[in-house]
Amino acid sequence: MRKKIVVGNWKMNKTVEEAVELSTAVAEHLGDGLVNCEVGIAPAFPALEAVGKVVEWSDIRLVAQNCHYEDDGAYTGEVSARMLESIGCTYVILGHSERRQLFGETSATVNLKVKKALGEGLRVIMCVGETLDEREKGITTEVVTGQVRSGLDGVSDLVSVVIAYEPVWAIGTGKTATPEQAEEMHATIRDTIREMYGDLPAEHLRIQYGGSVKPSNVAELFAKPNIDGGLIGGASLKADDFVAIVRAACC
Ligand code: PEP
Repeated sequence: MRKKIVVGNWKMNKTVEEAVELSTAVAEHLGDGLVNCEVGIAPAFPALEAVGKVVEWSDIRLVAQNCHYEDDGAYTGEVSARMLESIGCTYVILGHSERRQLFGETSATVNLKVKKALGEGLRVIMCVGETLDEREKGITTEVVTGQVRSGLDGVSDLVSVVIAYEPVWAIGTGKTATPEQAEEMHATIRDTIREMYGDLPAEHLRIQYGGSVKPSNVAELFAKPNIDGGLIGGASLKADDFVAIVRAACC
């Protein structure tokens, strides 16, 4: 059975002080008793180290929101996978739709980042998902499976990879995919992984759902057989909501 994974993506929110306060509240609620699920929090870069110190005594993973695909050099404003690893990050989120839409990331750059992060010993949460326009045109499957295939091109081992299916139209909009819509795409992603890697990796790969997950809708989403947890944006900024979502995954 796959262990569920719930990660809070704080995006560009919280000063260092606020991030320490929020992570302390989350850690106090969840402590070190996370046996049935894996939990991570992804603060913005300036708060990573301070939040890392808060969660180091707990089972909560430190997660970064992005990294560059080069080790070092003239890339103003960027952060390397090696830097993230050196301050205790376990995971890095790559290919989030906001990075793709607002910062020009392509599946090709996501692929370079995935390979670099894995090579540096980080685990990767690779995000995929269709826009509303793509869904309405009936090309959701083509878009999402294309992102999976190109994002993982040349990646031989999936042990350190998690995929997050995040329909773009559901992110931060309050619109959630129905559990049936989400399950259908998760099953399609798993089938694609089966074609690429075979049965065992496909059965072990965890596929998170992301898109306006909140305490009121989490139970029915997490009950679906191919939904292995969540990537949580807005609701992860409130300790009580995030903890409630984690508890739904841990039960
Ligand atoms: C996200 O940013 O990955 C996300 C799913 O955001 P929200 O939960 O706010 O829709």
